[in-house]
Amino acid sequence: MKKSLQVVFVGSLLCLMIPITFCTCTPGYALLSEEKAARLSQSGVVEYNGAWYQAGDTIYGYKNYVKLIVGDANVPLLLGIPHDGMFEGNPVIPLTGNTGRDINTKPLTFAIADLFKADTGLQPWVILSEIDRRRMDANTYPKDVDTRYGIASEGRKTYDSYHELLLLARTVMATNLANTMGGIFIDMHGHAHRYAHEQEEAYTSIISGKQILSRYIDQSDLGYGLLGTELGEENAQLDSYADRSTIAGLASAHPTVSFSALLRGPYSLGALLEAEGVTSVPGSVIPAPEFDADRFGTNAAGTPKSRPYFNGGFLSRRYGTAKIGTTTGFADNISAIQIETPGINVRNNTTIIARSSHKFKRAIIQYLNHWYNYNFPNSVYPY
Ligand SMILES: [Zn+2]
Repeated sequence: MKKSLQVVFVGSLLCLMIPITFCTCTPGYALLSEEKAARLSQSGVVEYNGAWYQAGDTIYGYKNYVKLIVGDANVPLLLGIPHDGMFEGNPVIPLTGNTGRDINTKPLTFAIADLFKADTGLQPWVILSEIDRRRMDANTYPKDVDTRYGIASEGRKTYDSYHELLLLARTVMATNLANTMGGIFIDMHGHAHRYAHEQEEAYTSIISGKQILSRYIDQSDLGYGLLGTELGEENAQLDSYADRSTIAGLASAHPTVSFSALLRGPYSLGALLEAEGVTSVPGSVIPAPEFDADRFGTNAAGTPKSRPYFNGGFLSRRYGTAKIGTTTGFADNISAIQIETPGINVRNNTTIIARSSHKFKRAIIQYLNHWYNYNFPNSVYPY
């Protein structure tokens, strides 16, 4: 019964939302009768274009450029990899951007998903694009989509396909977890933050434990849709921003917990990552991006600039639970966080990923257990 409702809900939601918001594609769903839905729901986790898919199956979007790994029906984790695509498309999708790949976020994210499944028995949902982000960037804001991709182009169809499948995954999750504390969408990215004057600073190597000098900044940016300057405000002020963040739904579910504690308290994702040795912003060690002319430079007026920090793009804003702002999310219990990872210590090579993926997996499971009332086992860091 629950699943039959889910299918009807998915169909109607997509029909209503996609044409109005940002997708011109024809949804791959038909509105099913409850009887037919009940019959089909015996066949898998989700239906797409008339076929049913089990957890672990791949749903292919437009020309196989977009892929959705189907999660278990009750898994509370959805992972996004929008920026590690390498293909130009056939025919070639024109270059419409110049920002580079988030290299190795795909193997990093799949490693996290595999470790999560090994501990919990549940396959997370994973959405990804195989197309070079300079040709199709799923993080493009709807207001820019027509200008950037046109209406019926290869780029536009790929963009629409990504959002169709992400919406499908998120909708099934939200429906199946409606009577629980919910789950989380984590959009995985990579940055290349450097110190302002190409100077090097030491960080502790995840491999050797020794100090290594680098021009790159070893930190993971956790994006909640709030500006770095907002994170820099006092807790009492920051607490009033909950409804503008991509975890507004999680904040509402914990009315006795201050919002600032969700961002930088001992059980914030940043603090849980720091406990694993992953430097995070915001967290309990770096509560907000600080200003420092020597390390981060100055602006044209000579004022010190702040620590580089990415606060979240369209994907995490749209598919999270922000209630207020230019881009709002959904009124449910599937919140979103964007994670921007460094190359050093997180994703530069397979040896690093084999280690960092355990650290991220451990923090994510702890986060779900603490804030979402799960009781998943969480294997120890093996190195
Ligand atoms: Zn990115």
